[in-house]
Amino acid sequence: MVSVLCEHCTAECCRYLALPLDLPETKRDFDDIRWYLMHGGVLVFVEEGNWFIQVRTTCNNLQSDFKCGVYETRPEICREYKAHDCDYTGGDYGYDLLFTQPEQIVAYAKEYFAKKRKKKVASKSGAKATMKQKAAARKRVKPGKGPARSSGKRRKAS
Ligand code: SF4
Ligand code: SF4
Repeated sequence: MVSVLCEHCTAECCRYLALPLDLPETKRDFDDIRWYLMHGGVLVFVEEGNWFIQVRTTCNNLQSDFKCGVYETRPEICREYKAHDCDYTGGDYGYDLLFTQPEQIVAYAKEYFAKKRKKKVASKSGAKATMKQKAAARKRVKPGKGPARSSGKRRKAS
């Protein structure tokens, strides 16, 4: 049965499709997303760490009364979609990140690579520090340079 909420909605959930994207990591990945965002009706969002592309396009089965024309045989994804936390009610639809303009992904990529470089420098200097510490520790335990031993002489008991 169609939710009562759906009676008041113009079927927002039937007006787009969203597909998962691979996690962008390279300059090319970000450039591809920039290209997606150059198209009308396209946005990219991140939810719980997962990236998606959303394309605004109305399902051919949506009728003029905003009801599904193939309700009995509608795809699984439509059946799973529930009105209590859908596009109309807002529900759980807070994005971690949302990109609607190419400039936004360019700015994000710039920050992403700057952070990555910083992390690399930090881990390199961390590795250098560890090597220095190891070298210092080796010096401390060199034969003859270790902790002083008793000379064998004993204090006379008074
Ligand atoms: S599930 Fe939500 S978005 Fe879809 S028709 Fe119903 S109220 Fe509208
Ligand atoms: S098949 Fe029906 S429920 Fe699914 S998107 Fe199309 S109109 Fe909406």
